[in-house]
Amino acid sequence: MFFPTIYSANTDERHIVKDKYTCACGARYNVFTMLTRRDLRKISFKHYKEVTCPECKSSIIYKE
Ligand SMILES: [Zn+2]
Repeated sequence: MFFPTIYSANTDERHIVKDKYTCACGARYNVFTMLTRRDLRKISFKHYKEVTCPECKSSIIYKE
């Protein structure tokens, strides 16, 4: 499965985007980047295997 993800340079992790402001693990990704059109392009669809945040991954498993 593919998910919208965002990369955090701060923690070197790729998170799954839950909604406009938060990741699936609860982290607010808009603190990683300023919300400009340019930054929103950093959101990209990636395979589940490419998500590196363990909390995001476990939350998706939990929902399934
Ligand atoms: Zn996460």
